[in-house]
Amino acid sequence: MSVEVVTLGCRLNAAESEAMRALASGEDDLVIVNSCAVTNEAVRQTRQAIRRAKRARPDARVIVTGCAAQVEPETFAAMPEVSRVLGNREKFEASSFLFPRTVRARAERPWDVEGEAEIRVSDIMAVTETAPHLLSGFAERARAFVEVQNGCDHRCTFCIIPYGRGNSRSVPAGLVVDRVKALVDEGFREIVLTGVDVTSYGPDLPGAPSLGLLVERILRHVPALERLRLSSLDCIEMDDRLFDLVTGDERVMPHLHLSLQAGDDMILKRMKRRHSRAEAVALVERLKMRRPEIAIGADIIAGFPTETDDMAANSLALIDDCDIVMGHIFPYSPKRGTPAARMPQVAAAAIKERARRLREASARRKAGWLEGMVGTTQRVLVEKGNRGHAENFAPVQAARGGEVGTIVEVSVTGVEGETLVGVPA
Ligand code: SF4
Repeated sequence: MSVEVVTLGCRLNAAESEAMRALASGEDDLVIVNSCAVTNEAVRQTRQAIRRAKRARPDARVIVTGCAAQVEPETFAAMPEVSRVLGNREKFEASSFLFPRTVRARAERPWDVEGEAEIRVSDIMAVTETAPHLLSGFAERARAFVEVQNGCDHRCTFCIIPYGRGNSRSVPAGLVVDRVKALVDEGFREIVLTGVDVTSYGPDLPGAPSLGLLVERILRHVPALERLRLSSLDCIEMDDRLFDLVTGDERVMPHLHLSLQAGDDMILKRMKRRHSRAEAVALVERLKMRRPEIAIGADIIAGFPTETDDMAANSLALIDDCDIVMGHIFPYSPKRGTPAARMPQVAAAAIKERARRLREASARRKAGWLEGMVGTTQRVLVEKGNRGHAENFAPVQAARGGEVGTIVEVSVTGVEGETLVGVPA
């Protein structure tokens, strides 16, 4: 049987899984589990995925890689199901997927000392370049994702990612432009720029180009590109050129997902975030002033350690103050190895209740936002049958389907659940 890749976590992991699938294509009886370490729950799911894979394919060799493998390799090396543990650098070396032909499954592992799997994990902080073949990015059927940056130089107190991904490094702008051009030539109408912290793009490159400059170059050198979408942004690091393009160029989609995390200044300080509540609110006001149709999504953590009821109320009010219509609400869970895990924790019941209120508030705002689009015409990228997303990322279901990957005009006639419904315009 061929190589199977199990992917957990973010879009970057999905892109890397495609790169590993290509690298390991000559091997057989191999399962690669590309892990995530963002929460303890993600690590638990990784272990579960490993056991499930081995139960389904007892003869296969299981390789574990990704951020959880990078941060805690011993955890996985100790699992009897695992043959090899790879770091986030080693996952791009073809030799990482080679096994001596004679070796089959766990019972025959000459490198197997004291029952532990082989560990190939180096210091990720020493990595200074993005992996070239990662540029291939990955494509869903309707849109393609291009990784422009990896790693992170920040050290938010709740986050383990920098320890899994290393320091921030950027893909040279010329390579990104070439990749976008190639994907557009392949027929993709929408490209999403991704990374771990895309607003950190550039300082490690000659001339320190900003993310705004990169976007400007893509728009100029790929005139056939119809829709450019940005993945999660750190609001305080949005440069002026990017601001002007997001608010002034109709090929940049009017949808921003902001990594806000909280709406209370003391909590933002204890998270080691770089923005204040007022700065987040002011940015959204400026965005909406220049381009009122911009839709705001945001990540918010409920119940960060030391958060009081009043601080939680400030985060709740942020949903309205920043007009967050796509709230991604994360109940705080302590991540081993992060400073926040050592802070006084909030009671589980309070975390749950605060998350419920945040979700409720975001859903209420979303309902109003969707209702406000009834009677309008939306340009929808068809993703599946008669479903897709509008430019502002509102989900849309049309009365009649279209070809996946095409853009259709839909007259919105109503809202069903959290989806706009309409007829072809
Ligand atoms: S910016 Fe903060 S939350 Fe985001 S990856 Fe870096 S350390 Fe983690």
